[in-house]
Amino acid sequence: MTTIQEDILEQIKRYDTIIIHRHQRPDPDAYGSQLGLREILRATFPEKKIYAVGKAIPGLAWIGEDGDFMDDVPDSAYKKALVIVCDTANDPRIDDQRWRNGLEIVKIDHHPNVEPYGDWQWVQDEKPATAVMIYEWYEALKEQGVVMNAKAARYLYIGIIGDTGRFLYGLDANLFRVVSELFKYDFDYQAIYHHTTTISENAAKFSGYVLQHLNIMPSGFAYVVLTRTLIHQFDLGDAGTSFIVPLPARVDRVKAWAIFEEQDEGNYRVRMRSRSVSINQIAQRFGGGGHPMASGAWAQDQAEIDQIIKTVDQALEKEEASQKVKEDNDA
Ligand code: AMP
Repeated sequence: MTTIQEDILEQIKRYDTIIIHRHQRPDPDAYGSQLGLREILRATFPEKKIYAVGKAIPGLAWIGEDGDFMDDVPDSAYKKALVIVCDTANDPRIDDQRWRNGLEIVKIDHHPNVEPYGDWQWVQDEKPATAVMIYEWYEALKEQGVVMNAKAARYLYIGIIGDTGRFLYGLDANLFRVVSELFKYDFDYQAIYHHTTTISENAAKFSGYVLQHLNIMPSGFAYVVLTRTLIHQFDLGDAGTSFIVPLPARVDRVKAWAIFEEQDEGNYRVRMRSRSVSINQIAQRFGGGGHPMASGAWAQDQAEIDQIIKTVDQALEKEEASQKVKEDNDA
């Protein structure tokens, strides 16, 4: 019997054109796994056309080495293409809806597989990053000729530091083993750290605003609502606002938090994080999803913001109450 990794390689061999997608509003793991796979495939199959598609977010354009970032792909290329989608749990979130035009679809992902799609699915939600899976795909198949190089190693490392918060979450021995393998390739990790740890002066001031205006409830739930006008005032340029997401975790009594960010359409993007209760099912109830400790959702208006706040607050209170019962029983 063949493994799913081998099945994916067999599909890749059957096609001359392979188009790699990932999720909308990409983060470093979305780009890192997508571009890491692109480089592995380009190095392994120089005769094939291998593309990475989706929006090029200016604030993350540094990820593309030597300006080599997202590819322009004509619609006609899909007619005979295999489409591989990295790091994307559900199909509405796939960036560039042309993915449907591929002849066959492969899903490679580390989010819970609540909304399966594609002809071939390789999903391991215990993996800390999709970039880890891409490395392991290479590793499982290197004896069959799959090739890794420094460019691919750099992309995969970027994916890993993105989804682990630079080695704070999802850590295990295998992750460090993979990282030690990646470090055998020559890439400039200091430059990556410069890009991922520094922020502009305006962004620093915006961070100060977020911490000062954080509402922390007795349950340990913290939130902040950011209006379009406010975000505009800080003039963050290409940086976007993602750098503020980990900030509430700096406060010791915060157990879970949400950042509500008003969109041009008037609704709110919700970024949720937790270090105790599972929040992805709550996110699903509000049009989103994600990991148990890191999810995203949508709120249409203030009433829905209030509902989300109440739901997470109650979940934390419930958790605390059940912990107390357990402690009393143990005593
Ligand atoms: P973010 O808050 O955008 O950094 O996302 C945190 C996690 O939740 C990531 O793993 C995303 O893939 C996931 N996520 C964010 N927004 C959504 C959404 N609307 N639907 C499903 N998953 C989401």
